[in-house]
Amino acid sequence: WLYGSLGPILLLHHDGHAPECVVFNAAEVPIEWEEHFVGDKVDPRTESFLTWESLESVRRNRVGLKGPMATPIGKGHRSLNLTLRKELGLFANVRPCYSLPGYKTRYDDVNLVTIRENTEGEYSGLEHQVVRGVVESLKVITRQASLRVAEYAFHYAKTNGRQKVSAIHKANIMRKTDGLFLKCCREVAEKHPEITYEEVIIDNCCMMLVKNPSVFDVLVMPNLYGDIISDLCAGLIGGLGLTPSCNIGEGGIALAEAVHGSAPDIAGKNLANPTALLLSSVMMLRHLNLTDKADRIHNAILNTIAEGKYRTGDLGGSASTRDFTKAVCDHL
Ligand code: NAD
Repeated sequence: WLYGSLGPILLLHHDGHAPECVVFNAAEVPIEWEEHFVGDKVDPRTESFLTWESLESVRRNRVGLKGPMATPIGKGHRSLNLTLRKELGLFANVRPCYSLPGYKTRYDDVNLVTIRENTEGEYSGLEHQVVRGVVESLKVITRQASLRVAEYAFHYAKTNGRQKVSAIHKANIMRKTDGLFLKCCREVAEKHPEITYEEVIIDNCCMMLVKNPSVFDVLVMPNLYGDIISDLCAGLIGGLGLTPSCNIGEGGIALAEAVHGSAPDIAGKNLANPTALLLSSVMMLRHLNLTDKADRIHNAILNTIAEGKYRTGDLGGSASTRDFTKAVCDHL
């Protein structure tokens, strides 16, 4: 493990050649990584494969970059991601999504940010069998968590020069849960008259996103909707290999991660597009106020994609993860 003055942590399986380490070295970013690995058995203190030491490290350093973690379907222990979000109070997941210059998709003008409530809703983990053949899952929405994420969405809009916040919901059917979420968003919106506020039903939101994504700016929504909508948004700009995110927690904790998962179909084959994780690491640098370094790395990534010489398979190219990473370093 490496301890440093700024000491963010890296929760990732890698061998020192991870793209973000290589690029940070090339850009001479003044941080040292404190590296943690997922455990190979359930840690009783976290009830998941996440070790207690990793959790403590994020609490201590308050900032980090996390690799994707696979969650086995239907197994008895807690998901690693859920454990991190719950234990660290990572209440908002910020997922920017914008068209990348030089990489053509059906849309040229996507520039939106999804803000996902990260701690409750359908992800509360409260599921049980009522009788054989009948199961229940509880969707929990609280005033506290809804106000907190709505406040963050408006704060984000204000501090990032954004004009509009759209609350995404299904309150016409889920009157109590999404109804409370909307009520909280409205209350917060009233305190920020300079930001336009609107409410959009989730199904209509999907249609509008596919038809004309440029109508959206900042979108705030309950947990499951955020999970789904942000993958949809990734599809608008070229896929999950491109979209970063940052989890914001209590007391200013920030844990950056790609939107994508462990990509089991291509993992370990030097085929993954490292852009999503690199852009997530740029979000982490901005959180640390290392703006110059963040800008330099951001520009190098955009220039590499725009140049088009080195593109990974998901973008129609044949470059490996390492080729692309080297090209980003060359652009630095
Ligand atoms: P996934 O995001 O891993 O993969 C979906 C598709 O996108 C696959 O075709 C994959 O090849 C592609 N893809 C993803 N990342 C890419 C990249 N960097 N470059 C190129 N292509 C990329 O989703 P999944 O297959 O549904 O989930 C796999 C595992 O990851 C599951 O166990 C799931 O629970 C977990 N997961 C973890 C996180 C997280 O750690 N935050 C997020 C989502 C899913």
